[in-house]
Amino acid sequence: MTYSGFRVIKEALTGHRGWGPAWRTPEPKTQYDYVIIGGGGHGLATAHYLAKEFGKSRIAVIEKGWIGGGDVGRNTTIIRSNYLLDGNEPFYEMSLKLWEGLERDLNYNAMVSQRGILNLIHSDAQRDAFVRRGNAMILNGADAEMLSTKQIQKRYPFLNVNNARFPIKGGLAQHRGGTVRHDAVAWGYARAADRRGVDIIQNCEVTGFRVENGTCVGVETSRGFIGAKKVASCVAGSSGRLMAKAGIRLPIESHVLQAFVSEGLKPVLPGVITFGAGHFYCSQSDKGGLVFGGDLDGYNSYAQRGNLPVVEDVCEGGMAIFPMLGRVRLLRMWGGLMDMSMDGSPIIDKTHIDGLYFNGGWCYGGFKATPASGFAYAHLLATERPHETATAFRFGRFEKGLLIDEKGVGNHPNLH
Ligand SMILES: Cc1cc2nc3c(=O)[nH]c(=O)nc-3n(C[C@H](O)[C@H](O)[C@H](O)COP(=O)(O)OP(=O)(O)OC[C@H]3O[C@@H](n4cnc5c(N)ncnc54)[C@H](O)[C@@H]3O)c2cc1C
Repeated sequence: MTYSGFRVIKEALTGHRGWGPAWRTPEPKTQYDYVIIGGGGHGLATAHYLAKEFGKSRIAVIEKGWIGGGDVGRNTTIIRSNYLLDGNEPFYEMSLKLWEGLERDLNYNAMVSQRGILNLIHSDAQRDAFVRRGNAMILNGADAEMLSTKQIQKRYPFLNVNNARFPIKGGLAQHRGGTVRHDAVAWGYARAADRRGVDIIQNCEVTGFRVENGTCVGVETSRGFIGAKKVASCVAGSSGRLMAKAGIRLPIESHVLQAFVSEGLKPVLPGVITFGAGHFYCSQSDKGGLVFGGDLDGYNSYAQRGNLPVVEDVCEGGMAIFPMLGRVRLLRMWGGLMDMSMDGSPIIDKTHIDGLYFNGGWCYGGFKATPASGFAYAHLLATERPHETATAFRFGRFEKGLLIDEKGVGNHPNLH
């Protein structure tokens, strides 16, 4: 069924009896050409582009839980392409362009909202760094604009620009950045992939890999063995645990990141704002809640729940620029698992085992990367070559010292 305004009206007039499930619930087959492990945003996007852009078939996505239950449905929904380094910026800009056409591509309302993102500046040194970053963005075909304090005050009159410790001295704006309804991205990709014949198998955990003579020939699952010509791991925060089953130790640690939603407010925050002197980022959802987050909890974990000290830390960051936040009640919060790589940048590559591929290390910026990650991973799986925007995202960079350290903090995964 194709979704359209006409369809919505027709269904409204006929008691909504015509809607079917958005995707099928097939039984796993014994053999596929491609098995993608992980039904998060990246896994589903990979399946969609493999079928649509590379004409591949006999594809399955194997998900241990339910579609939308991982980070894809837990993040703070921010999309942007405001990166500095050559290894990153063209990739994230491709992603932003794919977001811009995503709803037509998927025939699904993912609520892509280019309401703009503003990174606040609090010191002269930071202004220099942000001017440099803005120039790098423009050179890579992205949009960037430096805003003065006055321009910022006009759009965001409630900001405390005169905070004694963290005065707001301007900001770097990317007007094409914004937010996307996170779980709709999973549902939209799942439905689009299913329409092209991809089997989406939920409640099926991959428990091991079958490797014969150095080649991966399939996966052991909680529902039996599933054979595949190519097996593609795409499990984000569970990457370390899953790849260990193939004997592979990754340059990745898993950490918890929390997200927060306030009670609903009248429209107050037109775009996304990030605090530049600590870690706090905030947008307002279409339902009115302020959606915000900050730093990792700071310890290795596979638990999808966080601790109170970070709640305090995040709220302190928010209060420094946004004092009226003190009057707002926190409605709910949750945690997700972050696959933090050693240099803060992702990996999309083959492994040393033939037929086994890896996608991960998204740190806490993987949501915005969803379309480009799926596209580049599908490109690698279909052609055996990295996509031109993802040539730097390879395992070999850690051996050669060619790190893509966007934040400049070295090999401290908890700081990226
Ligand atoms: C609180 C929070 C806020 C964030 N905010 C942002 C943001 O604003 N902007 C941004 O760009 N990024 C953000 N991120 C990061 C982003 O959400 C992730 O990097 C990205 O979603 C990870 O890719 P994914 O969607 O494929 O992961 P997931 O949705 O986690 O998908 C991985 C899937 O693999 C499945 N799986 C794991 N092990 C197995 C197995 N053995 N067998 C089968 N299936 C398995 C899991 O159940 C899961 O569904 C945030 C993350 C969190 C937690």
